[in-house]
Amino acid sequence: MTPRRVRFAPSPTGALHIGSLRTALFNFLTARSTGGTFILRIEDTDQGRYVPGSETQILASLRWLGLQWDEGPEVDGPYAPYVQSLRTELYRAAAERLLASGGAYWCTCTPERLEAMRAAQRAAKQPTRYDRRCFGRQDEVDAERAAGVPAVVRQRIPDGSVSWQDLIRGEVRYRYTEIDDSVLLKSDGFPTYHLANVVDDHEMRITHVIRAEEWIPSTPKHLALYAAFVWEPPAFAHVPVVLGPDKLKLSKRRGAPDVLTYRDQGFLPAAVVNAMALLGWSSGTTEEVFTPEELIGRFEIERVNPAPAIHDPKRLEALNGLHIRRLSEADLVEALRPWLPTLSAEQIATLVPLLRERLPRLDDAAALVAPLVGDVSVPEGADFPPRGVDVETARLLLERCAAEVEGGALDDPTALRLRLTALVEERGVKARDAFRVLYLALLGAPAGLPVFDAMVFIGAESCAARLRAALARLPAA
Ligand code: GLU
Repeated sequence: MTPRRVRFAPSPTGALHIGSLRTALFNFLTARSTGGTFILRIEDTDQGRYVPGSETQILASLRWLGLQWDEGPEVDGPYAPYVQSLRTELYRAAAERLLASGGAYWCTCTPERLEAMRAAQRAAKQPTRYDRRCFGRQDEVDAERAAGVPAVVRQRIPDGSVSWQDLIRGEVRYRYTEIDDSVLLKSDGFPTYHLANVVDDHEMRITHVIRAEEWIPSTPKHLALYAAFVWEPPAFAHVPVVLGPDKLKLSKRRGAPDVLTYRDQGFLPAAVVNAMALLGWSSGTTEEVFTPEELIGRFEIERVNPAPAIHDPKRLEALNGLHIRRLSEADLVEALRPWLPTLSAEQIATLVPLLRERLPRLDDAAALVAPLVGDVSVPEGADFPPRGVDVETARLLLERCAAEVEGGALDDPTALRLRLTALVEERGVKARDAFRVLYLALLGAPAGLPVFDAMVFIGAESCAARLRAALARLPAA
């Protein structure tokens, strides 16, 4: 496939959630799977919506996910700078060209006039759009501008209609009578999204524009701009909107956290990338678990489904557990280190077989491991012995277990388990019930990591101490 030059073009208006970063991922996968180039461009021309710090956060989110850009901020490239506020001369020059060719015109309508115009249109049940009052009086407008009246540059939308072959949706068609003469250059000389976006996509040689569905109504305007500049337009792919499990648009306010929150909650970037890829894309098989490399091998933007995608946090958590299970021992030890800061790499390695299957998230490790390393006793107020176990059986079990571990039985914990099973079953008590006595005594809770494996980690001496302390907690027979 010919290499595709694609871009992710976020506006620094806040941190990004999984739905917005899914657009970045589809661009990244398109670039990597075609041997192309992934460009990051910061679209910061709307100073009113600028949120300080969000650019840094966007870069950090992309890096954490492993979506490294080939050209863009902090990397540079042949079309630098990749931040629109540093490129305003280019947009002004482009606007001049459009004014000269008739693709745009000056407008001095005041906000009050525009508001009155829209109110009248609404009252007449007409769509609200600019009535082109200034288009027919450019000489007057020139005089007004010369006298210092603030003016904007508007796009002259052509007549007729326009269509494009969307890579995800097939043919999309618009009548130009439906489209407003949007502002391209504001009175402060700053471009709007439409002008800056098209100029940069052209200047940066973008071949495929992959962006969210909400931009579909902008595409007819952009195609009119390409035509007015006599530039070849890129191909377009509009990716489906992402909804929450409640079928409402995903948003930060409604349970879609900033993606770096996932990092802080013990999610693996590979799992988040996997979950994002499934927001609209499928491999065409029932398989759902993919590493980033596997995604690069399989992804095709043409296979994305146009229907809204649902982000289910439970699926993300399940995928995270599956990705954790797939890590090599060394990688899992490395991934766990920040979550178990008091343990050495060697200690974590001995725990890995116990933890691997039990971690939907890495941050679950601390709670599972705490009883192995901390002070543990039968919790106050716990039923002890627990229901289903008589006091005498509990006493025998605790005494026997303590004696066994002191005698070296932890060299073979499986054999110890079998002997203790026989002991309690002879007394008519189910092993599953009886071993809750051991859980409470050794782990301080009726369940947790497999207790015989945990004993090996805790060590014979501490185990015996915990078992004897638990004996003292039993009521008199
Ligand atoms: N700056 C726009 C955004 O924030 C980019 C849209 C596009 O990709 O054209 O989503």
